[in-house]
Parts: sequence; structure tokens; C-alpha cells
Amino acid sequence: MMTETARHPRLPTDTDNGLLVIISGPSGVGKTTITRGVERSFADSVFSVSVTTRAKTDADVEGVDYRFIDDATFDAMIERDELLEWADVFGKKYGTPRAWVEEQLARGRLVILEIDVDGARQVKEKLPDALGVFILPPSEEVLLERLRARKRESEEQIQKRFAEARREIAEAKDSDVYDTFVVNDDLERAMNEAVETVRLARRG
Ligand code: 5GP
Repeated sequence: MMTETARHPRLPTDTDNGLLVIISGPSGVGKTTITRGVERSFADSVFSVSVTTRAKTDADVEGVDYRFIDDATFDAMIERDELLEWADVFGKKYGTPRAWVEEQLARGRLVILEIDVDGARQVKEKLPDALGVFILPPSEEVLLERLRARKRESEEQIQKRFAEARREIAEAKDSDVYDTFVVNDDLERAMNEAVETVRLARRG
């Protein structure tokens, strides 16, 4: 995926190993933990920080988890074609800044996107070499239990997330966006499987 362009002149630390990895999965499936595990396993990995119009929570770090922006700023980014992809998730917008991803790929880095199925589809259309990884719960019952165990939301909100998760899983399975589905039956095992999948893709 390495290309030398006027915008990205080659640096001594650049390699030809650039790989874009998309990690998706419903909420409550352990996706973020697995993503961070993949990130830690590759010395040259970088995590793409998305922009979003959703409100920042106490658990979020500005500029690390997301860049929190308002609707007008988001719309201006779409207008200027600054987003590689974007999607509406639970009524809020989320998007991946394009220039940064392109530069990191040109430098030969392992670039990780944690995005939803809609966004993943857009990325695969533009960059078919991207590796798509979808994290699945061992069963629907387990997913519902995990959503409840987080104790973050009311039962009504949990049911909404559960329905959304089922829809997203069905959509992911029907699409040809994902190269691999990793079942998170055991966090350590699932993380190793995701890391090995990325390692193989990088060799290939
Ligand atoms: P949360 O608000 O819980 O952090 O994320 C909600 C959902 O938005 C997750 O499924 C996450 O993968 C997705 N998401 C986060 N960033 C992006 C992005 O840049 N683009 C798209 N399409 N989805 C995103």
C-alpha cells in the first residue's frame, strides 16, 4: 500500500508494510479491549482517532478516544471531503479523518480503525486491501448478559442496544466487508486470534 507522493515524501523510517485494519462489533462485545490489544502487539501500529458529534463522557479522553466536534464542524468536514468514511450511529455522527490515515499508510504503519459496519463498507470500497475483523459474542444470551452487567443503562436502553447489536451482526454477516469473524468467548484467546489474523495479513 506504500506510495510516495508529493504530499508524503519518503522518510528514512518509512516501510512498505502499510496495512489498514478495520475492527467492528456490537457494543458490549469487548471490541475496544481487543482493539487496544492489537494496537499493543505491533510496534508501528497507530489508532485512528475519529471525530464525533456525540457528547463526551467522563470515560472519554479528548484527542485520544475521539475528537469531539459540533454538527456544523462535522458537516464542514464532509463538505470538504475530509472524511474517509462517516456514519450515523444512534443519531450521532462519527467519522474517520482521511488525511491522517493516508499519511500513516504511506509511512508503512499498521493503521487501526474501530468503526461500525456502515463505515467499514465505505472504507472497503475505497481501500479493498483493508483487513476487516468483526468481533462476535459467543451467543445472543451472553451479549445480553454482558450489556446488563455493565450497569450503565436502563433496561429499556439495554434492550435497544441489544436489538441494534443483533441487527449489526446480521448486517455484518450478510456483507462481504469482513475477512474474519472472531468470537469473544474468552478475551485472551480472542485477542490472540485477532493479533494472529493481522500478523498473517501483514505477511501476505
Ligand atoms: P461509542 O459512542 O460507544 O464510543 O461508539 C459507538 C459506535 O460508533 C461503535 O460501534 C463504534 O465502532 C462506532 N464508531 C466510532 N468511531 C467511528 C467512526 O469514525 N466511523 C464510524 N462509521 N463508526 C464509528
